[in-house]
Amino acid sequence: MQTPAPFDYERATSVEGAIASLERIGPDARIIAGGHSLLPMMKLRLANPAHLIDINDLDELSYIRDADDEIRIGALTRHVDLLKSGLLAQWFPVFREAEQVIADPVVRNRGTIGGSLCQADAAEDLSAVCTAAKARVVVRGAGGERVISMGDFHVGPYMTAVGAGEMVTEVRLPRRPGGGSAHEKVERRAGDFAIAAVSAAVWIDGGTIADVGVGLSAVAPITVELSRAEDLLRGRAPSEELFEQAGQIASEDCAPTADGRGPADYKRHLAGALTKRALRRATARALHQEA
Ligand SMILES: Cc1cc2nc3c(=O)[nH]c(=O)nc-3n(C[C@H](O)[C@H](O)[C@H](O)COP(=O)(O)OP(=O)(O)OC[C@H]3O[C@@H](n4cnc5c(N)ncnc54)[C@H](O)[C@@H]3O)c2cc1C
Repeated sequence: MQTPAPFDYERATSVEGAIASLERIGPDARIIAGGHSLLPMMKLRLANPAHLIDINDLDELSYIRDADDEIRIGALTRHVDLLKSGLLAQWFPVFREAEQVIADPVVRNRGTIGGSLCQADAAEDLSAVCTAAKARVVVRGAGGERVISMGDFHVGPYMTAVGAGEMVTEVRLPRRPGGGSAHEKVERRAGDFAIAAVSAAVWIDGGTIADVGVGLSAVAPITVELSRAEDLLRGRAPSEELFEQAGQIASEDCAPTADGRGPADYKRHLAGALTKRALRRATARALHQEA
């Protein structure tokens, strides 16, 4: 089946209007942003929303800005804008590295950060990037805003903490000195979803790892936040031995399944090898920042 089930459609003219429609229509309503994940699912009848609320006219949700100690990214910001942002490249080069290997220009010109995170597809790159960067997601409903850490945002495969009558409006990244970040991905062909991908962000203070974030894509039912490795690394001087141990933890703490992209033990191996590489490169950048 290649055509979606019938649905009603409206173009929101404000965030408040979109939220009011979500509230009025209830669970049958879905936000559509870039449509690059939702429309294929509708065509396959894996998603059958009765009502689409199109937020593409909401320019107020498209921005990347510096706000004191945070970088704030509007939910409707497209992949291409994340790719080109000088501000992000300066503070979180992991975004540019990931965006260079997400899909192709057609998808990147349309797909959004809000849609990527809300799709909650474990194979998707930006969730690992945002997990590593210690991002927080702003969710707005009629009653006000909630700010949710990436660790709490995905509650299962294709499921998020966004409630009925709510939508994502912003992603916030803590902007701290001494940071470096990197993304490592193995894919079958350029532009494919990952066989495995790892994002790492490291903050160095006085020669030791003050904080660190590691996110894994495509090696478990949801994006993996590698907390056990983060706990191991925090407060220690960076070294190859530590990165090796973190890679070992990644191989142990992921839960890949065999599919058309590869066998489970290969993905487990990749999780370890890519974690080591991402941490090594993120740390080199952080040390360069600190110097
Ligand atoms: C051929 C192809 C290759 C791709 N390759 C990759 C890849 O290599 N790596 C990768 O990471 N991604 C890849 N993608 C996915 C791409 O990044 C999508 O653009 C992205 O996953 C979804 O963004 P979107 O804006 O299109 O979301 P949509 O499809 O519009 O929406 C996706 C989901 O999010 C919800 N949603 C959207 N915005 C909001 C909001 N603000 N608040 C609440 N809910 C919201 C929708 O209701 C829907 O459930 C690929 C896609 C295609 C078609």
